[in-house]
Amino acid sequence: MDKQPTAIALFSGGLDSILACRVVAEQGVRVKALKFITPFFDYDLLAREAQYRKKMREKYDIDVEIKDITDLYLDMLHDPPHGFGKRFNPCIDCKILMLIEAKKLMAGYQASFIITGEVLGQRPMSQRKDTLRVIERDSGTDSLLLRPLCAKSQKPTAAELAGTIDREKLPYCSGRGRSKQIELAAGFNITDYPSPAGGCVLTDLNLANRIKTLYRQRERVNRDNVRFLLVGRQFRLPHGGWLAIGRSQDENDALLRLCQPGDLVLKLNDRPGPTALLRHSNHPSDISLSAALVVRYGKKIPGGPLETEVIVRQDQRDTLLHSSPLPDEQLAGITII
Ligand code: SF4
Repeated sequence: MDKQPTAIALFSGGLDSILACRVVAEQGVRVKALKFITPFFDYDLLAREAQYRKKMREKYDIDVEIKDITDLYLDMLHDPPHGFGKRFNPCIDCKILMLIEAKKLMAGYQASFIITGEVLGQRPMSQRKDTLRVIERDSGTDSLLLRPLCAKSQKPTAAELAGTIDREKLPYCSGRGRSKQIELAAGFNITDYPSPAGGCVLTDLNLANRIKTLYRQRERVNRDNVRFLLVGRQFRLPHGGWLAIGRSQDENDALLRLCQPGDLVLKLNDRPGPTALLRHSNHPSDISLSAALVVRYGKKIPGGPLETEVIVRQDQRDTLLHSSPLPDEQLAGITII
């Protein structure tokens, strides 16, 4: 019978979570790392999970699985009990939600405890002493939750009391400095890791505002609308239309992938330009305004006419609109979010 103990790790992919997995694995524990994703962070990994898992195994010797918690997360974001940070980031409830989900998965992995890469004092909202306590209490993970990088500043957890983990062999990291972590990483021959700048759009001024605006229209909060909101230049049109215009080939491609029945796709007919996606409106004036915006951001032909043709495609049917670029004075009159 397999007696090797197993732990589940919350794995962000940042250095702290990598180290948390490695220092626990070093004590003979099998670590199953879970990477939770939502449209606000790491959603693109869903499309390349196998590749990502391989990379994490080869680079850090960590076995990672991806778990999509979008639906639960979107619900939580309506009213996170512990409020928001500086932007629209509900960091404490985000951690609590992930721990609740990890706890539910423990039995399936025959795991006896959970680990995170949290470090006391590293982040202003979610890694203060009092909030670390709130997180374990409100997620119901209490003594199940080992934070191996700062366990020495916390009361002993079940894994330590049972002798599965030798507390004395754990490192001790604290505060915002990274030198201890960098030294630990070097000890594991890990030199290539992501920089600490977070990849969570809920902390981004511009994108967080877009999401906040969406949450004022409760009935429109869903996965597709959130994903749509995060791409390109965004405009709110007078008759209810939402327009996104790609700023790069990647964003143009992303908008095409996000197109749903009823959405309109706009592109220039005879010169290079952006792809645009119009949602929630079929109103002729929203459509002609969208066309004028697409022409505005499209390529100009030196010495050629400013106006050109825009292909408007809806549910596989194309129509052509002749349009001039939207003049500056009219741009000021539409809401850009
Ligand atoms: S920054 Fe984003 S992903 Fe990180 S804890 Fe806060 S809400 Fe969650």
